Amino acid sequence: MPEITPKFDIILDRDGVINLDSDAYVKSADEWISIDSSIQAIANLHKAGHRLFIASNQSGVGRGFFTLDDLNAMHEKMLNLIHQAGGKITDIAFCPHTPDDQCDCRKPKPGLLTSLANTHHISLNSAIVIGDSLRDLQAATNVGSKAFLVLTGKGKKTLQENPNLPYPIFETLYDASQSILT
Ligand SMILES: [Mg+2]
Ligand SMILES: [Zn+2]
Repeated sequence: MPEITPKFDIILDRDGVINLDSDAYVKSADEWISIDSSIQAIANLHKAGHRLFIASNQSGVGRGFFTLDDLNAMHEKMLNLIHQAGGKITDIAFCPHTPDDQCDCRKPKPGLLTSLANTHHISLNSAIVIGDSLRDLQAATNVGSKAFLVLTGKGKKTLQENPNLPYPIFETLYDASQSILT
């Protein structure tokens, strides 16, 4: 009997997962520095037939630290690197709001995940959300998805502050991808 390996829809946080995070915000394409093994992980997951998405809080837009044009330039840089490595991101959802805006999309609110799910027919029950902050994992739990914590970016701090998290924990997105691929 041919073996059927499950294909997952995988929704990634951006800052601290795909690229280095900064407490001063990542505000331009120049400041957007990839984690090289994460680019490779995305390529490997794509080649294995999984779909990849990004759901990212970008309150720096609402705070006036950078513009949507700057954000688009960051994403162009990111997608170029991913494409060069043989990977693909099916869609990017981002929240430009600040906490004061009381929107429905800023994680841990579920809006980014549900809008991706509606557009791309993602079954959130079987999707995997990977992030470095508690709010990424909470957003996943809020919609019934699996959540993986990575220890890049704010991940180590997240784990220190929440030592009993009931989620699988990986050093990097690459390590998480290896566990999905085997
Ligand atoms: Mg993050
Ligand atoms: Zn929002």
